[in-house]
Amino acid sequence: MKIVTTQSELASEIDALKGQGLSVGLVPTMGALHNGHLSLIAQSKKSTAITVTSIFVNPTQFDNKEDLLKYPKPIKEDVKKLTEVACDILFLPEVGEMYQEGEKWDYEVGVLDSILEGEFRPGHYKGVTQIVYKLFSLVKPDIAFFGQKDYQQFLVVKKMANDFNLPVQLVACDIIREDDGLAMSSRNIRLNGEEREASIALFKALSYIKQNYKEMSIVDLLEEAKQYFNNGFLKLEYL
Ligand code: AMP
Repeated sequence: MKIVTTQSELASEIDALKGQGLSVGLVPTMGALHNGHLSLIAQSKKSTAITVTSIFVNPTQFDNKEDLLKYPKPIKEDVKKLTEVACDILFLPEVGEMYQEGEKWDYEVGVLDSILEGEFRPGHYKGVTQIVYKLFSLVKPDIAFFGQKDYQQFLVVKKMANDFNLPVQLVACDIIREDDGLAMSSRNIRLNGEEREASIALFKALSYIKQNYKEMSIVDLLEEAKQYFNNGFLKLEYL
């Protein structure tokens, strides 16, 4: 696997590959890789000749400074995992490589920015579009792979690609879960034992909704599903 840290190096790699007529798949990540990320890479490897994975903890999409500081960065383990799954290129830039001082990004995300996750993380999706636009411009992927775990993010990226007429196909991949149903996530390692146990409420509530949505009214369904979050550890933001 080639590890590339600068935009210019990446651009010349991509030019050479595209010059040979090879198709390129992109899997954008923030690292601390788990089987969810690896499933996206597996899908890319099936669909394209070359797979580029990016690892970049993008500061502009964090509305919470502490979350940014605490974000796990096990880069050695990540490189090992990527090598094992035969990823072709890892793009691993520093913040200064991706952003100029005082840089502006005025893309209007629209309604998705103010509902559900957007309502509770102001500016998050604006930051996501800023970095994904840069990655798309640099890697020029034929296909980019995202997880359904962040479905709202997928819709935001889809809208941006559409608004700018970007020549990229977007694929939303299945959610990979732990044995008890919790979706794999880089942040899960920050949960202590009790919190980890409590987190399963999310999967239980969603499973309850999936099982009962045909028979129950939306109001009753939400009321019942909300009960799963009354375990003393969780504060429900939206359902
Ligand atoms: P992240 O590193 O958290 O920014 O995630 C990078 C990509 O991996 C995003 O497209 C996520 O939706 C996707 N992803 C994260 N966790 C999972 C999972 N458990 N299953 C499938 N895809 C995932």
